[in-house]
Amino acid sequence: MKYPAIQNYINGRFVSVTTSKTMNVVSPLDGNLLSTVPMSSGKDLDDAVKAAQAAFPAWSKTPIKERVQVFFRYKFLLEKHLKELAELCSEENGKTYGESVAEIEKCIELTEFATSLPQLVQGELLEVSKGVECRTEHAPLGVVASIVPFNFPAMVPNWTIPNAIALGNCMIIKPSEKVPLSCGKIAELLKEAGLPDGVFNVVHGDVEIVNAICDHPDIEAVSFVGSTKVAKIVYQRATSNYKRCLSLGGAKNHLMVLPDAIPDMTAQNVAASMSGCAGQRCMAASAMVGVGNIDHIVAKICDEARKIVPGENLGAVINKESQERIESYITQAEKDGAKILVDGRNAKVAGKENGTYVGPTVIDYVTPNMSVAREEIFGPVISIMRTNTVDEALAIENANPYGNAASVFTQNGGMARYIIEKASAGMIGVNVGVPVPREPFSFGGWNESKFGVGDITGKSSIEFWTKLKKSTIKWNAEAGVNWMS
Ligand code: NAD
Repeated sequence: MKYPAIQNYINGRFVSVTTSKTMNVVSPLDGNLLSTVPMSSGKDLDDAVKAAQAAFPAWSKTPIKERVQVFFRYKFLLEKHLKELAELCSEENGKTYGESVAEIEKCIELTEFATSLPQLVQGELLEVSKGVECRTEHAPLGVVASIVPFNFPAMVPNWTIPNAIALGNCMIIKPSEKVPLSCGKIAELLKEAGLPDGVFNVVHGDVEIVNAICDHPDIEAVSFVGSTKVAKIVYQRATSNYKRCLSLGGAKNHLMVLPDAIPDMTAQNVAASMSGCAGQRCMAASAMVGVGNIDHIVAKICDEARKIVPGENLGAVINKESQERIESYITQAEKDGAKILVDGRNAKVAGKENGTYVGPTVIDYVTPNMSVAREEIFGPVISIMRTNTVDEALAIENANPYGNAASVFTQNGGMARYIIEKASAGMIGVNVGVPVPREPFSFGGWNESKFGVGDITGKSSIEFWTKLKKSTIKWNAEAGVNWMS
């Protein structure tokens, strides 16, 4: 085992859990055992909540300009430890080192945004009648929880940590049991940055802890990122306990390629979007709808896909179960009559025979009823459908239940504008394969890709992590004036 057994992080210390149940943490790159992760109990969660509650009065009363000083230091620590964090992220998740570096750079950008919160969060003040002021201020919620998925072990936690904590909350994070190592390192860096004990806590586990978070009476808000199936469970359970909840789910992102698209640029973007992070991005292109004759672009997409080599510029998928699921989708498409132009099944990497790799896969002549067209595959696979008109392409995109992202490749500005208006997705790309909004813009999909109001990052997150206090103030300078009259 490469690393010591993982522990929870509560009140500024790494601590053992009260159960003996653990799971192995295995690197998808080569199948080697990295560590074990504990399955915490409700009692362990309760300890974390108590620590967070104890830290809340002092932390929430610390002026925000002082609170963000922690995140200035945290940003420099992320930069200083970038290589170490990227290696850890790559080992536990299976993505390439370069992709992990990009992930840590995104954590730095998210933290930079949090340091700007004092400039964005100030309240409003207006004299509403003579001598009477109304003012608003953003108050923190209290103890909040963040439940995160496996595909971005460092970035998704940092979607929530800097903003929620800089805004005055105390947090408990529940990492994915598949990639629990990065959150331990994040805890160490936050402590080194000067975050008071108890403000940030890590509780490891699986379903049982997620349920306990949704049920805990002293947790005010829950953010969740993961599959739609679990996003719905968490949203229902947390809100039925009267908590604030923002729950981000899965995706099936469509790229619409028009005949006037620039062939090389389009092909490079499609291939990069479908295969980056081994297709395990909620913003990955999973389906492509070609309008009219796009054979010349499909040929170039295949050329680009063939340059993507497992173990070189393509990482592993998270585990054997995922590998088998992705390969079975490809096999099913073949049985259904689609044409496999580039086949990623049975990928092997010399010296890493226990790694879980799937090569880039291009499937053409897919029809909208096939499972590869309808379902989230979460692997380096693009399913190409053909239509004659933009409206037919939009109908296919809009029929899918998700709504994270949609992109169009064209040189026609009017057509791009039309698609921006008509596509039912929260994040739209024009000649961009992975249209993730950069800070200060916020991240969040529509439809079955998100449950709850607002978005998880950027300015929108201020509304989620705070509640407004509205004060009406009158000093008796003119005692005879009755403002109510
Ligand atoms: P997942 O839903 O299996 O797990 C997410 C979290 O929920 C984990 O911490 C896990 O321990 C917990 N969990 C799993 N099953 C549970 C259950 N039955 N009840 C309660 N908790 C449970 O997701 P994953 O496989 O880790 O991540 C991949 C999924 O996340 C994909 O669907 C992807 O699209 C989605 N995702 C979405 C976004 C977004 O912004 N919308 C971002 C990243 C990932």
